[in-house]
Amino acid sequence: MALAETAGSLARALDSALDAERAALPLSREMACGLLRMGDDQLPRLLSAATALKQRFKPGVITYSRKVFLPLTNLCRDYCGYCTFRRDPGEAGAHTMTPDEVLQIARDGARLGCTEALFSLGDKPELNFPAMRDTLHRLGYNSTLQYLEAMCDLVLRETTLLPHPNPGLLSAEWIRRLAAVSPSMGLMLETTNPLLLRAGAAHDNAPDKVPARRLRTIEEAGKQKVPFTTGLLIGIGETLEDRVDTLLAIRELHRRYGHIQEVIVQNFRVKPGIPMRDWPEPTHGEMLRTVAVARLLMPEVNIQAPPNLSAPYYDDLLDAGINDWGGVSPLTPDFINPERPWPHLAQLQLRTEAKGFSLRQRLPVYPEFLPAATRAPGCLAEKVRAAADTQGYAKGMAA
Ligand code: SF4
Repeated sequence: MALAETAGSLARALDSALDAERAALPLSREMACGLLRMGDDQLPRLLSAATALKQRFKPGVITYSRKVFLPLTNLCRDYCGYCTFRRDPGEAGAHTMTPDEVLQIARDGARLGCTEALFSLGDKPELNFPAMRDTLHRLGYNSTLQYLEAMCDLVLRETTLLPHPNPGLLSAEWIRRLAAVSPSMGLMLETTNPLLLRAGAAHDNAPDKVPARRLRTIEEAGKQKVPFTTGLLIGIGETLEDRVDTLLAIRELHRRYGHIQEVIVQNFRVKPGIPMRDWPEPTHGEMLRTVAVARLLMPEVNIQAPPNLSAPYYDDLLDAGINDWGGVSPLTPDFINPERPWPHLAQLQLRTEAKGFSLRQRLPVYPEFLPAATRAPGCLAEKVRAAADTQGYAKGMAA
């Protein structure tokens, strides 16, 4: 009886979702949780609803951003259990890039048709490490954010690339300053569940991963109308309900401020040597369900999933309602997941076209957010306009 009831309520949730697809009604929390619990036998119906919504939103096109990855510093004051990027000072591989290194990679990327300079870095390492304070002083700066601002400005002025910084938590003042030198920025919300900060959990000893603080940063960006990328990380100890709550929190911020240009659904992958090396990875089916539910919850928001984290079956993500592959680099490795190389762009194009879509190169800021990114006159607006074609995509789109 209980089983029959459960099956009945799942079927009703699915039917409601399909109704929502037809009527474009928002999906409720309960329905979304029901859909995430569905068995693989029901998956095709969910995927077909998600794909229909994606096609209504952005028919026929899948985008990606051709980028260089600039790991400005891999020193970080946090210790996330899944991170293979971070280092302490003196540890093998610890590195803070010099301005010359930044410029060299950006120029090399420009020659290969890149239009995004993705700055990824640890969160405020100078607060914990005197060695980082020394490095910054030698470079002429007092904080990592000051240095980041200067490097965004350098790339903006000296190359055709547009910076997209991802520096962790930001105050209102720092959002304003970075928005003057970059058309968009990002911060993964990851999860709204504060229990992941408990001892032994993924965010144990990661003070910058307090969900309320991350929500405040994203909200502040909304108040300043900064095109913003965020998303959730699945498989780090959260429940299915947490996944829905995280998506709903993003949806609510977007409803209030209209600034979420992209939601990333990222799956945890095991890496040797990390504290979470023995944790199970989310299954491919879980990933597809989460992407599809994200699409149903936010029919008119760009949904992205990284192809390298779902290889070799990454093209299945196209069936789940994504409309973007995120940043893909022809030059630099994925420093966050170095063991999982990005697919070759020609392969990505072939597999995207095999599913019936055309692949288009976008800028780090999505076409519909160009007005927000160019509202203040000056170098940033000029560079963005120069990089965009008449539809707001990147000029020179060959993959
Ligand atoms: S995931 Fe980010 S915040 Fe966490 S340890 Fe790694 S670099 Fe630091």
